[in-house]
Amino acid sequence: MSTFQAPKGTYDLTPPRSAMFLAVREAISAPLRDSGYGYIETPGFENVELFARGVGESTDIVTKEMYTFTTKGGDQLALRPEGTASVLRAALEANLHKAGNLPVKLWYSGSYYRYERPQAGRYRHFSQVGAEAIGTEDPALDAELIILADQAYRSLGLRQFRILLNSLGDKECRPVYREALQTFLRDLDLDEETRRRIEINPLRVLDDKRADVQKQLTDAPKLRDYLCDACKAYHEEVRALLTAAGVAFEDDEKLVRGLDYYTRTTFEFVHDGLGSQSAVGGGGRYDGLSEMIGGPELPSVGWALGVDRTVLALEAEGVELDLPATTSVYAVPLGEEARRVLFGVVTELRRAGIAADFAFGGRGLKGAMKSANRSGARYTLVAGERDLAEGVVQLKDMESGEQSAVPLAEAAAELAKRLG
Ligand code: ATP
Ligand code: MG
Repeated sequence: MSTFQAPKGTYDLTPPRSAMFLAVREAISAPLRDSGYGYIETPGFENVELFARGVGESTDIVTKEMYTFTTKGGDQLALRPEGTASVLRAALEANLHKAGNLPVKLWYSGSYYRYERPQAGRYRHFSQVGAEAIGTEDPALDAELIILADQAYRSLGLRQFRILLNSLGDKECRPVYREALQTFLRDLDLDEETRRRIEINPLRVLDDKRADVQKQLTDAPKLRDYLCDACKAYHEEVRALLTAAGVAFEDDEKLVRGLDYYTRTTFEFVHDGLGSQSAVGGGGRYDGLSEMIGGPELPSVGWALGVDRTVLALEAEGVELDLPATTSVYAVPLGEEARRVLFGVVTELRRAGIAADFAFGGRGLKGAMKSANRSGARYTLVAGERDLAEGVVQLKDMESGEQSAVPLAEAAAELAKRLG
């Protein structure tokens, strides 16, 4: 193993591609910030207990994918595998739900850790932007979140994604379905691990990716047929609001998702250009989670969008993001005195909000001009001893190749004018 290799299942974001990640985080969070969601940041690790209870002892995330460790002080911690449990924990700790302002609407952005089998689009360290609306049961809130995610993806220029939608029922109707499903599944030809799953988390079996399992599931009882009237009405209202907003979705009764705490609305954004790691984001309602981690009853809904897979989706569609120019002006000093003077001009430009960079290290004209080219700057400023003696700098338009002498004192103002 090379000394310079990132740990297995991880990768670094380096320029220029890293700019896409920033742009994606920005684009996903912008609709949230414009819709009353406040920014929340929680620690990168939590007590293991929070995830065991809040994500669920029967999920792959908790049983297989969590990075757990014991601190020198003996605390059992885990690197966060997802955001919802932490955000709810933090909201409860800060009593945000008691401020008489429900729902508490929060958004977050950060790194998450899962011990997975690394493959394209599946990493051990990845990045999400998420949103949670805590403390309110209202189909318009579920619709709002789906509409905002759709808006975010569209604002990035993504087109080949689909929204899958389902209802998982609630604590009245889901247990009845669960039992009917278990009875059906126990008669199938399945391996030991899947048989165990039938007893712990039977809905997850529906999610099995293997063809021989899927073939046996054709006649499985459908959750739709078991939804109680309240859940049916709620789901119809979410669908109607999405339709009215012009957001297309597909009903997918097999969509169960991995986490135990989901109730009613559940959804996933899938992209058709990503192969098997097709989910770019997902979420749903989690009315029971607060009580599961020891809080009051707080029906809530949220989603998390994967930044890494969103970038892959953009690349798969060949979308060119409209990224802001990193450098507009590049200054090339020739000699000691020019270094001092042009460094001053660069500082002045930067303070005026013009992106400027500088040939550091006393480089020769040829090498410095190569860097100027690479920087993408529209203009270069070059000055040597003779220019300084005349009180000018050479201003070169890198697009047209035109070059002219500009009085030193007017260089910054002239550039500001030309760059509009
Ligand atoms: P999958 O079915 O692909 O394992 P998931 O259901 O585990 O996804 P969630 O927990 O809902 O995913 O996380 C939301 C989003 O975070 C996913 O849609 C995906 O874009 C991203 N994500 C999840 N796990 C990873 C990972 N290991 N690497 C990269 N992105 C991930
Ligand atoms: Mg997963």
